[in-house]
Amino acid sequence: MQGEIEDKCGIVGFHSQDESKDVASLVYYCLYALQHRGQESAGIATFNPQKGLNYYCGMGLITDVFKDYEINNLSGSMAIGHVRYSTTGQSKLENSQPFVTDFDDGFIAMAHNGDIVNSAELRNELKADGYEFMSDTDSEVICYMLKKEHYDNNKSILDSIESVSKKLVGSYSLVILVNGDLYAVRDPMGIKPLAIAERNDDFILASETVAFDAINAKYIRDIVPGEVVYFENNEIRSHMLDLSGNCKFSHCMFEYVYFARPDSTIDGINVYETRMNIGRQLHKLYQIDADVVIPVPDSSIPAAIGYSRASGIPYGEGLIKNRYVGRTFIMPTQEERELAVRLKLNPIKEAIKGKKIILIDDSIVRGTTSKQLLDLVKEAEPAEIHFLVGCPPVVAPCFYGVAMATKKELIAANYSVEEIQEQLDIDSLGYITLPALVEAIGMDERDLCLGCLNEEYPTEIPEGLEAETYYKP
Ligand code: SF4
Repeated sequence: MQGEIEDKCGIVGFHSQDESKDVASLVYYCLYALQHRGQESAGIATFNPQKGLNYYCGMGLITDVFKDYEINNLSGSMAIGHVRYSTTGQSKLENSQPFVTDFDDGFIAMAHNGDIVNSAELRNELKADGYEFMSDTDSEVICYMLKKEHYDNNKSILDSIESVSKKLVGSYSLVILVNGDLYAVRDPMGIKPLAIAERNDDFILASETVAFDAINAKYIRDIVPGEVVYFENNEIRSHMLDLSGNCKFSHCMFEYVYFARPDSTIDGINVYETRMNIGRQLHKLYQIDADVVIPVPDSSIPAAIGYSRASGIPYGEGLIKNRYVGRTFIMPTQEERELAVRLKLNPIKEAIKGKKIILIDDSIVRGTTSKQLLDLVKEAEPAEIHFLVGCPPVVAPCFYGVAMATKKELIAANYSVEEIQEQLDIDSLGYITLPALVEAIGMDERDLCLGCLNEEYPTEIPEGLEAETYYKP
């Protein structure tokens, strides 16, 4: 459900061998295409052999943070960029990325998408070694770990990455700029996406392929889980991390269900096509006699089209999204929270009144937004409401960088489907099943992370670790 779950980041890396070229504006456009992955802060770091590292970060949307002046000051042909979503209480400039710290006679800059579940322990170890922290980010932890390996054990960056990866538990797609050398790393489980493209003689790394489309770059391939990519003589070099541990591919299913833009392709699977399949699967599971299939815009549009095509029931727009509403501030009262839903979505009464409607949404997390949404729809006086959900019941939190809710806030962790239907006061409620979702994605179930659906997490979760949440009452 829109607004109830947030991914934390989108990352970009840019490598050009043409040292006279400034690539910051191209990174800006890539980040612009990834804005849906994070709206709290944005930042770009560039490297210029004459001027060294330049960087700029700020709070807000990419268009708020960067104007001509900031972009023009970021000279250099190598760059990394980041858009960030942060959890409540941590929305501050110090946590914006790329994180930058000194390294040898220059600097290291890093942008991270994911969450390190053992970061508290790693942070404490580094503190004991005298490292002082200025942010809450995992990027700072990883940067200091790299520095420590490099300085204490005299290791190259590549060897340092190898050593550090053995200690990191969790999800990490990283782009790292070290004194003019660009590295990209995808964790051995491949929880977060990362892909590479080319544009003329340049190489671009990004969380989603839409970033490549934005600058007319040609997708080459996804970074393989456990792979480190770097560049020599303007060619891609690949180093596989030692995967002797007990790890398996665990791609986040939520990328396909909700986070990623539908025009992205992740690990060879097109997101739009997957969401259409979700609609088709919902029709296989729930054949409902209705007049119209209506999506909750925007992420549920392909699923509603899929259901409509499979069933022959007309697709119709019944809710209009105000595309100019940014993130709403934390609303202290229930009345204000309800107003926020009205501001974002407005029903078309004429399209709903007197009709038996199938309303399709991508997921239900806490259930509060669904309740408010359905109350709005009821005001338009439909004859019947059948609510179908493109994600199985979310029964557990995420520890890998998706801020949603704690277990006690998750409605499906506390109530049965029948009880939820009763609370929502609708004619029927149907979730997609886990096997149907896996079939819709088209990936081997063993290669997916489904932790928030079945509590089988791909890593150990330290005892007492609290999941980060989007909204804390
Ligand atoms: S726990 Fe859920 S949201 Fe988190 S990475 Fe796994 S599938 Fe994605």
